[in-house]
Parts: sequence; C-alpha cells; structure tokens
Amino acid sequence: MTRCDGRKKNELRDVKMEVGVLKRADGSAYIEWGNNKIFAGVYGPKEVIPRFLARNDRAYLRCKYSMTPFSVEERKRPGPDRRSVEIGKVTTGALAPAILLENYPNSMIEILIDVMQADAGTRCAGITAATLALVDAGIPMRGLVSACAAGKVDDEIVLDLCKEEDNLGQADIPLAILSRTEEITLLQMDGIMTENEVEEALGLAIEGCKSVYQMQMDALKTKYGD
Ligand code: ADP
Repeated sequence: MTRCDGRKKNELRDVKMEVGVLKRADGSAYIEWGNNKIFAGVYGPKEVIPRFLARNDRAYLRCKYSMTPFSVEERKRPGPDRRSVEIGKVTTGALAPAILLENYPNSMIEILIDVMQADAGTRCAGITAATLALVDAGIPMRGLVSACAAGKVDDEIVLDLCKEEDNLGQADIPLAILSRTEEITLLQMDGIMTENEVEEALGLAIEGCKSVYQMQMDALKTKYGD
C-alpha cells in the first residue's frame, strides 16, 4: 500500500526538534512533526497558585495544552475546550511518572504546550517536546518520555497518521513510553480494531517511540553536548 504522502507503513513523518528556544521560560523546546508545529515551555519548580493545590510530599504538576486559532483549517475559537482539557490531563499523566516530583514538595511545575499548526498527532508531539523542555529546565527526570501513534487506515495498520489519514482513519492509538523503566505512560484508542490489529499497531508505535527517543537524545546532545 502507498500512503497519501508516500511513506511506508512503519515510517514516521519528518521530525525536527530543538531544545532551549524560548528565552523567558525556565525550559523550552520546539518540535516540527510533519506539518505539526508546537512549542513547549516549562516554569518551575515554583510557588503553588492557588495555594490549596500544594502537596507536602511532592510537586504539583500542571500541563496546559492549547491550540492557536490559526492552527487548524477553520479558525478555532481561542481558549480552552473539552478536547484541550482532556489532552492537558492525559499529558500530565504521561509526564508525571518521568519527573522526580517528590524532590519538590510544596511547589509546582507548570508545562505549557502551544500548538501553532496542527496536522494530527499533536498530543504525542506535545508530550515529546514537553519532555525536552523539562530537561532544559533542569528538572530531574527518571528518563525521557517519547510518544508516537499508530492506527488503521484503509484496513492497513500504519505508523503516525497525518491529518488526511486521520480523517479517513478507522482507528488511532497514541502511545507514550518512559525510557529506562519502559513504562507505558499514555495509551489511548479511538475507533475499532481487532485484537490482532491492536497488537500490530502497538508493535509499530513502540518502534516509533524508540525512533523518537533517539531524536530527543540527538536534540539534547546538539544543545548540551555529550
Ligand atoms: P491529536 O492531535 O493528538 O491527533 P485528535 O485526534 O483529537 O488529537 O485530533 C486530530 C487532529 O484534528 C488535530 O491534530 C488537528 O489537526 C485536528 N483538530 C483538532 N481539533 C480541531 C478543531 N477544533 N478544529 C479543526 N481541526 C481540529
């Protein structure tokens, strides 16, 4: 099968990552993943606001995902919506196991993910960029979180659906893996697949996450050396 953009079934889109791109945040990264363009900025550890969210055994982690009005085909209304709240929550869940939150009781780490241009797979690209921004902020981590999706298009299981494929797609499984422990920190699915198809898609997504991990390491080496 040839895909609409000519990729092989196990091929990622072109991905570029850059660490430390924003001067004012404590840590930052930029990712271009196919036609997705996303910035991630990290603040903290800092004072918890509002105060009642503070925990005396660990830092409070907050992730906010937003899309600019011009990031999608038709101008999107600015501000939060159900989808962005959901993605913020699953992103928090995907990143929390990677961070030594227990080192920073009574403080807060804030991650902001801003999508400038969206073309499917933004939650995975956002998680991948946010991980780099956390490292750039000097926050101690257990490993890197690398994310990537696989899905079903035209009855074929393929890696990393672009928007055109997502529109026609029958199913999509975003996955995130924490390196070192190899813990799965994000696993979602929409659409319908057989058990065998899920297994095949997970196999592809795991390989995809490994490639993403290598690219994250390369981006960090480019910024900080070996
Ligand atoms: P992900 O971006 O993680 O794949 P979804 O599956 O929810 O998340 O969205 C797929 C794609 O649909 C997005 O990347 C974006 O290109 C598009 N999209 C999402 N929300 C909107 C919206 N409000 N208007 C137009 N397109 C949208």
